[in-house]
Amino acid sequence: MTQRNHRSLFQALLLVSALGLAACGPGHEHFEEGEFNPTNVVDEDVGNEELGESESALSRPTLRLPFRCGTTWRAATFSGHSPALAVDLNRDGDYGDAVLASAAGTVTRAEHEGNTSYGLWVEIAHANGWRTRYAHLSMKTVSVGSRVSQGEKIGEVGNSGESSSSHLHYEQRLNGITQRITFGLNTYLRYYGVAYITSRNGC
Ligand SMILES: [Zn+2]
Repeated sequence: MTQRNHRSLFQALLLVSALGLAACGPGHEHFEEGEFNPTNVVDEDVGNEELGESESALSRPTLRLPFRCGTTWRAATFSGHSPALAVDLNRDGDYGDAVLASAAGTVTRAEHEGNTSYGLWVEIAHANGWRTRYAHLSMKTVSVGSRVSQGEKIGEVGNSGESSSSHLHYEQRLNGITQRITFGLNTYLRYYGVAYITSRNGC
C-alpha cells in the first residue's frame, strides 16, 4: 500500500470515528416507530433468557427501565444505531410521558443540541463509573448537579434532535463506554431485536 493510500485510509478511519462520536446522529434515520404489538412481555425482574446472555459487571447498579412502574415499552436495538449498544424505547402516545432515573445518582449533563444529535438530553452518573443517557426529550426537570433518586422524574419523552418520531434514546455506559443494556435484575436486551418490557421502576 502506498503512503497516499495509507493517508486516505487514515482519513476514512478518522471520519468513521467522528461519525461514531456524533452521538445519536445518522443512526436515528433508521428509527422505525413500529407497531406497538407487545407479545412475550418481559417483566424487568423476571427476565427472559432468550433475550441474551449477561455481560453485566459485578459493579453494575440495578438500572431500571426509565418509565413508570407497570408500563410496557417496546425496546428496539438495531444495526446502524449510534452508538451501537443504545436502545430506542417507545409505546403508543408516549410523547410527554415521564422519563425516570434508572438509578440514584447525580446529573452530569443536561444539554440542548437543537435539531441535531440527541436534542434535549440528560446524563446521570451512578455508582462505580456507570452512567445513563436519556435523549430526544421534550422537556427536562433536572439540571447539572441535581441529585436524583431511582424512579425520580428527570424529564419527558419527546422528539427533539435527530429523531423521526417520539421515543426515548437510552444508553448505559461504564467509564464512558457504552455497554450492553440490562434492565432490572436480569432482563438483557437482544442485539439486535425488539423486546417488550414492563417497568418495575419506583414500584
Ligand atoms: Zn436512538
